[in-house]
Amino acid sequence: MAQELNLLASDNRGQSQLEAGANLAGWDEVTQGTVLISFEGDATGIANKKAEERTYSDFNSYTASVASWRVSKPVFNRDICIDCQNCWVWCPDSSILSRDKQMLGIDYDHCKGCEVCVEVCPTNPKSLLMFNEHADLEESLASWPEKKKKEKK
Ligand code: SF4
Ligand code: SF4
Repeated sequence: MAQELNLLASDNRGQSQLEAGANLAGWDEVTQGTVLISFEGDATGIANKKAEERTYSDFNSYTASVASWRVSKPVFNRDICIDCQNCWVWCPDSSILSRDKQMLGIDYDHCKGCEVCVEVCPTNPKSLLMFNEHADLEESLASWPEKKKKEKK
């Protein structure tokens, strides 16, 4: 029989879970055989739906924010981006928002600030750069570096 439980909101989950979770069980209390349903209702064709069209259950990691894990965040500069999709391919947390091969920005609820997207961005200067978690977006964009010239050999 499936175990009935609610997952505990712990320090590494988002503020909304923290506020919601008074009587919840911890992840280390989940017993073998427990079934955690990822989606509410009929999940037919769910793979073809966009994230915002899906109804995630409280057990799906998508509903948990990890924003509080970050000390620095990637900032996206639309003016330089060439929509190559490198960041989308390499992000280990599926936190690059892209539609129809156009880079739209960062999902800050799930981005962990690992910097991989910045590392793989090929533009000059990069279209993604890391800033302090609390940095103002407009100020960050205003401080963007100039294009680096190639050094003559
Ligand atoms: S910093 Fe890491 S987790 Fe965040 S968007 Fe970039 S690659 Fe993804
Ligand atoms: S890797 Fe850089 S240039 Fe390519 S889509 Fe991402 S932000 Fe744009």
